[in-house]
Amino acid sequence: MTPSEVQTGVRLADHTTLAVGGPAWGFAEVTEPEQAAALAAWAQGEGRPVLVLGGGSNLLVADAGFAGLVLRASRVGGAPAFGPDGEVRAGAGVPWDHLVAETVGRGLAGVEALSGIPGDVGAAPIQNIGAYGQEVAEVLEAVEVVELATGATAVLDKPACGFGYRHSVFKAEARGRYLVTQVRLRLRPGGAPEVRYPELARAVGPAPTVAQVREAVLQIRASKSMVLDPADPNHRSAGSFFMNPVVPADVAAEVAARAAARGLPSPPRYPAADGQVKLSAAWLIERAGFTKGFGAGRAGLSTRHCLALVNRGGATAQDILTLAREVRAGVRAAFGVTLWPEPVFVGFEAEVAELLE
Ligand SMILES: Cc1cc2nc3c(=O)[nH]c(=O)nc-3n(C[C@H](O)[C@H](O)[C@H](O)COP(=O)(O)OP(=O)(O)OC[C@H]3O[C@@H](n4cnc5c(N)ncnc54)[C@H](O)[C@@H]3O)c2cc1C
Repeated sequence: MTPSEVQTGVRLADHTTLAVGGPAWGFAEVTEPEQAAALAAWAQGEGRPVLVLGGGSNLLVADAGFAGLVLRASRVGGAPAFGPDGEVRAGAGVPWDHLVAETVGRGLAGVEALSGIPGDVGAAPIQNIGAYGQEVAEVLEAVEVVELATGATAVLDKPACGFGYRHSVFKAEARGRYLVTQVRLRLRPGGAPEVRYPELARAVGPAPTVAQVREAVLQIRASKSMVLDPADPNHRSAGSFFMNPVVPADVAAEVAARAAARGLPSPPRYPAADGQVKLSAAWLIERAGFTKGFGAGRAGLSTRHCLALVNRGGATAQDILTLAREVRAGVRAAFGVTLWPEPVFVGFEAEVAELLE
């Protein structure tokens, strides 16, 4: 028998910031880890997959929907708790930016550049959220989880989370295995804020406070439609749709050569792990001819940020995919670099690589 808290026919378009996606086979709001595990066991007994949903700000859900059980975790875990020496614990359901606001209000440094990122605390470790040169992994000490298949709880320390650029074990070998219930951070009481991006440095001037950095980040993000604002025509997005490509040095040199051959300035490049080079996806997209506002249909590029694919109203997941394919193919043809999407794809029958070819 279907548990009483499971709803059917819930449209996932209503629970994602891109506002696309068909119905879920089952949908339940969960509050307790035990309840989540019991529902997951029931779904698995019915032969159905399980998806944990936070704020839906990093998802592309298929038009056919998701043929499994969605567990919405936005009420899991408690309010932020503050211990000595910058220790912070926050439940999965706390909106990420509420947590940042509270830490900044207490003069704690370490997440100020991550101001304004939509979504819940529980999702922050999943792709190791980052912005303006800061990543949550830098200050994360541990993640508390419940294993959905067994109901067992565990505390995963930072090495166990396998963080990388927009990456963690939760996106790889442990994908779908856990529901994150709480995140533990270690911030710097009274610490100086981190200003690693020239654009941010220009906005705040010398020796800013964490509060000033937060304000500047929020303003810059708003100017690029990178905060959720229903009044903004670009608001239906998943933020940056493509990750910045991390490539070997010889590939970066080839990109620079292609740019020069096209009469373009040198592409921005940043050092990455293992001697690799991080390129700017936004630069590549724009210089490949996909400028802000590109696209004539229901899906297009944001008029304020060419890295955001936007549902202009009435778009389908197919529309988003068609646009993503066009942009990706154009960048590959111009610079020989293949972009990889940042959002998690849900409910599609084919693999992501196949969907984007
Ligand atoms: C306007 C805009 C700007 C953005 N800017 C940034 C940015 O600057 N930097 C950045 O990194 N991201 C950015 N994002 C992407 C997004 O906000 C983040 O990835 C965020 O962490 C997603 O949170 P969510 O709660 O919405 O997760 P969802 O979209 O609901 O889920 C994302 C993934 O996390 C999993 N998940 C969610 N909650 C849990 C949980 N409790 N336990 C286990 N798994 C869970 C889901 O299963 C899914 O795999 C932006 C998005 C938008 C719309």
